[in-house]
Order: sequence, then C-alpha cells, then structure tokens
Amino acid sequence: MYLSGNFGEIRADHFHSGIDIKTQGTTGHHVFAIDKGYVSRIKVQANGYGKSIYLVHPDGYTSVFGHLDRYRDDIAEYVKQIQYQRKSHQVDIYLEPGQFPVNKGDFIAYSGNTGGSFGPHLHFEMRNSGNQHPINALKFGFDIKDHIAPKFSTLFLDVSPGQGQVNGTSEKQSFNLVSDQGIYTVPWGTRLEAAGDIRLGVEVFDYLDGTSNRCGVYTLEAYVNEQLTFSQVMDEFSFVESRYVNAHTDYKELITSGKKVHRLYRLPNDKLRIYGHLANDGILKISEGEAYVVRVVATDVAGNRSELHFTISGKSGIRGGEDGVIADGVVMKYNQENIFETRDVKVEIPADALYEDLGFHFSVSKPGPGALSGQYVIHDPGTPLQKPFTLSVKAPGVNPELRGKLVFVTYDAEEDKMVSEGGEYKNGMVVARLMKFGSYQIALDTIAPEIIPLNGSGSGNQSGKKSLRFTITDDLSGIDTYEGYIDNRWALFEYDPKNDLLTYEFDGSRITEGQIHELELYVSDSQGNLNLLHTSFTW
Ligand SMILES: [Zn+2]
Repeated sequence: MYLSGNFGEIRADHFHSGIDIKTQGTTGHHVFAIDKGYVSRIKVQANGYGKSIYLVHPDGYTSVFGHLDRYRDDIAEYVKQIQYQRKSHQVDIYLEPGQFPVNKGDFIAYSGNTGGSFGPHLHFEMRNSGNQHPINALKFGFDIKDHIAPKFSTLFLDVSPGQGQVNGTSEKQSFNLVSDQGIYTVPWGTRLEAAGDIRLGVEVFDYLDGTSNRCGVYTLEAYVNEQLTFSQVMDEFSFVESRYVNAHTDYKELITSGKKVHRLYRLPNDKLRIYGHLANDGILKISEGEAYVVRVVATDVAGNRSELHFTISGKSGIRGGEDGVIADGVVMKYNQENIFETRDVKVEIPADALYEDLGFHFSVSKPGPGALSGQYVIHDPGTPLQKPFTLSVKAPGVNPELRGKLVFVTYDAEEDKMVSEGGEYKNGMVVARLMKFGSYQIALDTIAPEIIPLNGSGSGNQSGKKSLRFTITDDLSGIDTYEGYIDNRWALFEYDPKNDLLTYEFDGSRITEGQIHELELYVSDSQGNLNLLHTSFTW
C-alpha cells in the first residue's frame, strides 16, 4: 500500500481524518473488510466522501471507506431500494448488525473517485465507535512502509501583536531551512535577533516510502534551552474541532503562499486537543542579552525523527507587558460578541468566532460589473473564522418579486467571475451567514441552471444504451436540487458536482423495456430558479 495522504494533514478548513491509499490512478479495485463486524452505515453524498461505507468492529472501532465507485451488488441493490423509497440520490442509512455482517477479508465495495475526490484513491479512516472521533489509522499496524524522516522546510518567527520585534521589525519573518549533517538549521550567517514576545512556526512534512507525496507529521515538540515549551500529537480529534486547523496553521500564510505552517504555540481560541505541554501557550518571552537555543523535534508514526536547531539572540526593543495592544482598526475581543454597524451595513461576529483579538477594518469601494451595490470590504480574508458572522446590507431597490433573488457575491480574480455566497431578503436587508471575511457586493441571480443532454441523452432511440447523461451547470448560486422522473415516477439521477454530471443508469427492474418513455428533469439553483427538461425517448 502506498499513501498519497495521511492522518492529521493540514487541509482546507479541516485536518485530514484518514489515510489516502493510492489505487494506481484507476478505479474499481476490490475493497475488503479489515476485520469481522457489520455494515453499520452507508452514506451517499454528491460531495464529501461520495459513496462511503462504515463497518463496526467488536473491539470498539469503526472503519470507514470513502470515495467508492460502487458497492458490492447485494449492498448496492439495498442502497438503491432506500434511494427509491426516500426519492433521494443522497442518503445516510444506518443499518442493524444482522443486515450485512462481514468477516475479515470479505469483499464489500469497489474503490473509486466519487464525491470531493480529485483523483482515484481510497479514503480509509479508523474511528472510535463510541464518540466517532477519527483516530490515526497508521497506528493499527497496516503494511505501509515508512523509512523516511520528516523534512523541515521553513521557519517562521512572528511577534504577538504589538509586543515584539524580529530582526528589528514587527513583521513576521520566514527563513528557508537547510539540512546540515542530518540536522535542519538556518543557512550559515542568518541573523535571528528578537525582542519581546515571539511566536514560532515551522513548515514540516513527512514522507513515506515509494511516493513523493507530502504527508503530515505525527508529533512536534519545541524545546528552548532544553525546556519543553510546546508539544502536539496527532492521535485523535473530533470532527467538531477539525476546523480549528485554521487556528493551528498560519491561515494568512496558507492562503497567500500556500505554506502549511504548524504554529508552535496556541492562539487563545484554539480548542484543539492535540496539544500536550504548553508553557505560556508556547510564546517565548525574550530578554535582552540572553541566547535562546531552540530545538524542534518532528516524528512520524513509524518512529523516524528529525530535528531543527537554531539560536535566537535577545535584543532590546519592544517589551512584552501590556496585554492585547492593537495599533489600528476597531478592537474586537475574540471571546465576546462584536457588532460593527454603519448606516447601510451590519456585521455581527459571535463570541469565539475569532481565534484572537482583532483590529477590525471596514471600507466600501466601487461596485464591480453587474453588481447592485458597492463592494463592502469586511476586514481581511486572511483572518480565519471558527463560526459564521452575519452580514446584513441594505437591499438595493428592485422589483419586490425579485427580492428573493438577491445574493451576496465575491469576485474570483483567478477565474475572473462572480461567485455567489448566498443570502436572503429580510426586512429591507440582504442577510447571509458567512464563513470568510472579504469583499462582498449584492447581485441578482435570476438565471436557472442549464441542462445539456450528452450524446443525445433523453430523446430519440436510447435502446441498448446503459445510461442517460446530462451536463448541469449554474451561473451563480449553484445547483441546489435535481430530480428526475421517468413515466411520472421518481428515478435515480446521480449528481457528480466536480464533473457537472447528472447520470441515470437504465434499470430494467424499474422501467419497462421496449417502450416510449417520458422524461422530466427538474434542476434548481440555491435562489430557487428552476429549469425543466421534458422529453421522451425509446428504451
Ligand atoms: Zn482522504
């Protein structure tokens, strides 16, 4: 087995909760039960894990297999029955122990690339059955070779806001690292001088045998003058706390440079359970004239380890002392509700949505093309949020029947297009709960999704064909619902968002072969714009 990802990796808004097993770039590999037990849950999602299956084992663990292409035939037929019963492609089914018992090695499904997977692989996860926490799957003795130690790539020295300096500046400094006789360090001659409260971060990855994929490290420890100041271990977390990855990593660095930094300190509202020892939350208090010998140790589950060594010289400069000095912006305390209001705009940030105190910024700039309002610049997209904030903006004057079509949009410069962030009309305002700060403006979404038949799908003679396929796309708020009826009866259309694909597989047990059939396909977007494709075909 070769892995393209492991447990605890820093990903977009979450820690990776399993291991990603390579499948040679192909789908359809047999997936087997790792131990005796029973199928406890089957979930079919358009996004996320796609088609997944959960097995409960007698020793208190649950194994989870995601992005499956399809289930074993008898399981597949059972799932299909439920989908037809509930008239829904997406289902979450909990099963009884007697329904599909398994023995170790039993074939259960085929590997695939369904849901939010962007290349064939098997997502495999171990969970504690009691609390459903994902657990580091590499600790279960699977045959995965790893003789390669973690590799440090970048060191970051940052200051607590207004409380310190690094090399004479209050800006974060980064240093590329080199390996010298097996020990990572800064290049010879690098100046590392600091004053006040200093915060350390590192970019470090683990690598496994036989692949070049960057994986996550298992443990990280920092020692200053041989005193442990910080430690973390990637054994277990809960899905509820997985979003705190945005506090653990330097989020602004992630979205600007793509670097996946592990902070060797804890932000005030970071509630992850991965931390062990935290002296002063991992923040270094630097005194003038002192030397700080820092040693950072990274290990992987196989026991390989790497060390990073460097020394910080204490200089005079800003001293730590006063708490939470924020130089500019509206001061917002992370642990209380914050409301910012102008004549047309209200920003409500609930308590514990921020990870640390903030100097909040707000401005309005000119509307972009197609927008019905100015651009409201709500702070900085580089500041992450644990909970959504509520943005309310005075609605532009539109025809009353169009009010439900008002949405907030952001501009995606990379794609040169507007992206809908949702929104609804309430008491003269457009209101949305948003997970990201940024520049929002108001636009109208009145255009229904497009439905394009592929290879003449849905009309004429379809005899001998295996499936009907359609491309479905939406210009702004995105596909919300999709429903197909054949001969006035609900039929299973499977939606694959990453390929904009809607597929119906002909099922001779549910429609009568050799006849003319009537097809109705309804596709709507998030603002309720509906398109209907109505045709007939022979099959
Ligand atoms: Zn995965």
